[in-house]
Amino acid sequence: MEFEKFRTMQFPRDVYVGHGVLPNIVPVVARYMRSGSIVIVTGNITYDLAGKEVESILHDAGYDVHVIRTDRANTENLEKIESLAKELGAGLIIGAGGGTKIDLAKKTAYDFNVPFVSVPTTPSHDGIASPRASIRRTGSTLSQEASMPIAIIADTAILSRAPFKYLKAGAADVISNLTALLDWKLSSRLHGEEYSSSSAAISEYAARELLEKSHMVLEGVEESVWLVTKQILASGTAMAIAGSSRPASGSEHLIAHALEMANPGESIHGEQCAMGSVVSMFLHGGDWQMLASAYSRMGLSIKAKDYRIPDSVMIKALSTAHSIRPERYTILGEKDISLNASEKALEITGII
Ligand SMILES: [Zn+2]
Repeated sequence: MEFEKFRTMQFPRDVYVGHGVLPNIVPVVARYMRSGSIVIVTGNITYDLAGKEVESILHDAGYDVHVIRTDRANTENLEKIESLAKELGAGLIIGAGGGTKIDLAKKTAYDFNVPFVSVPTTPSHDGIASPRASIRRTGSTLSQEASMPIAIIADTAILSRAPFKYLKAGAADVISNLTALLDWKLSSRLHGEEYSSSSAAISEYAARELLEKSHMVLEGVEESVWLVTKQILASGTAMAIAGSSRPASGSEHLIAHALEMANPGESIHGEQCAMGSVVSMFLHGGDWQMLASAYSRMGLSIKAKDYRIPDSVMIKALSTAHSIRPERYTILGEKDISLNASEKALEITGII
């Protein structure tokens, strides 16, 4: 049989991370702008945090810049942004904001086939450096294919203005790669799913770095932001190599998505991943206490009640999470986990 393997990988070309890197947006735009205007997708708060500065820097550099303010990442807002971007003749799209603004900008850029530049204002999850976007449709959140940012400008001076809970959540999103990797290996053994050791090695490295340095994830310290952001970027590299979110998203993410759909608003993505990863690690027979103590060192609770999640919601989320993305095989299997078994696993791990 002839050799038939192939893989495509998309990486960001310019990554700026560190204190005061924002002005580098000018040479970045100069490199990748084709024609048309620049569209900045941002939110009301994030406009003040970063969008406004991006707008004025680029305006001063002589570019035709337009700002689109939005809020939630849902299909209605995506449609609004896309029709505005079309009207404005967008030649390059910048997402300046937290996860939702980045996701909307990323998906718009993908649909328009124009370069996308990521300017994150919160270090809260690995979406700032991934080619996937979570867009909410009535009742469910869909992870969709989107553009890998052509450039990422992660200014730690800006990122450190975000509330501390976002930094802890971002660290947890990366630490939870450990269960995603166990799920990936399991699926590779059971279903022959293609597995990339190089991608897994980078993903694991990122998670272990933050696990070992969890005592250094501190409030009000810009170096902590640097520490976490670097590993968020490494996690993005792992996804780029795999060409999917597999190295960073397994059963813990299915549980996080199930929680988000059942009980929105009280806990944020990384916090849901933290809870998910502890119980998933328990199901894998791994060292879940090690994960729990790393989260506790950062001051991140894995107790559902601290996020006002009723026990029954948590139990149901674990029981049914497998059905969120049936094609992604994980330790959660292909059938509901009985409510009794879910309850027990959550009790043992101290989540409920
Ligand atoms: Zn995540």
